Amino acid sequence: MNKMIISKRRLIHGIAGMLLTAAVLFFKLNLVYVILIGIFMGLIFGKVFCRWICPMGFIMELMMTGSSDQKHLQLYNYHKLGCPIAWISGLFNKFSIFKVRKDRGKCTNCGICDKNCYISSLNSSYSLHKDGRKNPSIHYSCSKCLACVEKCPAKSLKYSI
Ligand code: SF4
Ligand code: SF4
Repeated sequence: MNKMIISKRRLIHGIAGMLLTAAVLFFKLNLVYVILIGIFMGLIFGKVFCRWICPMGFIMELMMTGSSDQKHLQLYNYHKLGCPIAWISGLFNKFSIFKVRKDRGKCTNCGICDKNCYISSLNSSYSLHKDGRKNPSIHYSCSKCLACVEKCPAKSLKYSI
């Protein structure tokens, strides 16, 4: 996914959240279908629903305030709990087709990705660039915010198959 789309994530999330709310409230879309769609998306993209589609996720993100460290902790905890879609699609983060992947040849080891990732910044066993650490995009709490991909100055990170 290219950086231009990722930089518009909040806008896309807001619009998708409003459309989903309208579909449920005015067109009586059954919530069971919403859950099934969220879970199916999880199989392909991982826990993408929370940060790109869910109206509650959008509101929760707006409510998270404070220093960058405090926000990271709030995001980490919220995306560990969430709702049934978050629980199940979080488990799929390990198996989903799309993941955050690194082009080792381009990485300059600047560390910007880890500073912007609420998983790597809180748990030293995860890193997007250090060898021998686990990829945070397979962590249960990764909500595919793609801040890591967006902030990487070397275009070393991609969210791809
Ligand atoms: S931000 Fe990009 S270049 Fe910098 S350490 Fe992370 S992957 Fe490597
Ligand atoms: S998408 Fe990237 S920055 Fe966001 S939580 Fe997952 S690994 Fe961290």
